[in-house]
Amino acid sequence: MTDLADTVSNMKKKYREIFIKSADAIQSRVDEIKPSDVEGDIFDAFPCNSKGEQWQNAVLDMFENDISHEIYRKWNEILDYRKMFHCKGCATCCNLACSEFSPEELKAKSLSGDKFATQFTSIFIPYKSSEEAEKVYPEYLKLLADVKEYEVYFYHCPKLNECRRCSDYDNRPQICRDFPDNPLSILPESCGYYQWRTEVEPVALMLHSMVEIIDYYKQKIPYKKEVS
Ligand code: SF4
Ligand code: SF4
Repeated sequence: MTDLADTVSNMKKKYREIFIKSADAIQSRVDEIKPSDVEGDIFDAFPCNSKGEQWQNAVLDMFENDISHEIYRKWNEILDYRKMFHCKGCATCCNLACSEFSPEELKAKSLSGDKFATQFTSIFIPYKSSEEAEKVYPEYLKLLADVKEYEVYFYHCPKLNECRRCSDYDNRPQICRDFPDNPLSILPESCGYYQWRTEVEPVALMLHSMVEIIDYYKQKIPYKKEVS
């Protein structure tokens, strides 16, 4: 069995490599549209209505209208490809759902209109202790204990019957049907979507890195919206 800690460590290493490549590629696209007579960096504070500021606006426009759309399209392709794979009914995700929020926090979020929290709390109930949860997926809990920087709460679904099958499968809620909707989720090898996740991971990491890099540019560019 693949060691989960190795899987996560490899993913971090891959992400660092991919991040550097994505940063270089985005920087090249930023430089491509830089007017030849502008001196300075994309993060400089250029005078109002200067060519430098127009360049910054063009870069932000490119992020919004080109690169973000590319990311969105590729992410949807990944999710479409997921349809080629199917749940094998191993029940791990029914038996061990994690959240950074406590039951009380989830309830409060649900009351304030958070739809995900409402669905989550309508399905899952908390484990009495992390020791109880550890019996379900010990490798995962050990990894979390080593790396987690914040509290994680563990939940399970009472609709799972003694044969480890959903007792109301035809009426299962949408979040059960959608799981796993993030190709960067950690999945057990027993999961029917494990191969999907493995195949799409490089592209998903690249898209994730692009989102992070674009956000960084957006924060750092001294943007003035009113300038046309
Ligand atoms: S409702 Fe069914 S599919 Fe959803 S978590 Fe519970 S047992 Fe699993
Ligand atoms: S972990 Fe994967 S295979 Fe197992 S029940 Fe959940 S979706 Fe299905």
